[in-house]
Amino acid sequence: MISEALNIVRNKIPTNVTLVAVSKTKPVEDILTAYEANQRIFGENKVQELVEKQDALPKDIEWHMIGHLQSNKVKYIAPFIQLIHAVDSLKLLIEINKQAKKNNRTIKCLLQFHIASEDSKFGLSLSEVQEILESDQFLHLENISIVGVMGMATFTSDKEIVKEEFRTLENYFHVIQSRYFKFNDSFQHISMGMSGDYEVAIEEGSTMVRVGSSIFGSR
Ligand SMILES: *Cc1c(COP(=O)(O)O)cnc(C)c1O
Repeated sequence: MISEALNIVRNKIPTNVTLVAVSKTKPVEDILTAYEANQRIFGENKVQELVEKQDALPKDIEWHMIGHLQSNKVKYIAPFIQLIHAVDSLKLLIEINKQAKKNNRTIKCLLQFHIASEDSKFGLSLSEVQEILESDQFLHLENISIVGVMGMATFTSDKEIVKEEFRTLENYFHVIQSRYFKFNDSFQHISMGMSGDYEVAIEEGSTMVRVGSSIFGSR
């Protein structure tokens, strides 16, 4: 079931788009099934669950933290995390940098934009992102690498709203890229699209989709 579902999703994703299999709440057995079908990138949204699964599963899995991250929990994932998707403050970046340094690593991060109409969703505005990137403190963070942007669309069946929000995120990506990362090829990712909207997201320029229930079943 999982491997068939995985292949259905894979067949809808072009090769230049990265698939993050979102395994939150699912048991390690399910992750192993996807692993055996050659999936190597998995996303989780809770630190404790992520740490336990990382410990129990093969070490060549690339773990992504996709959920809201509290500064005081960064230390638990800093030794192994490959990408943190939802960075939404300078304070958090400073802490990620500190823990990355302790572990002698550089940790890749995406800046989360608020693109949905619901105010329950986390994320930054364009001016807040610019404030972070222009701050003196940011310039001194040597153990983080900002590799792109991330966002979540409004939870609605109205595809036009979702499309417009993804379009906005794609536009923010280009604004930030041209102003701050023009000569930095690492800044390349737009993480957008989940089970309900990843096809629209890809049409609008997503380079990384985070798909859970379409692979592992509903939660
Ligand atoms: C749960 C989650 C997903 C995946 O959601 P599905 O609808 O199950 O595909 C993607 N991104 C984030 C941030 C999530 O928390």
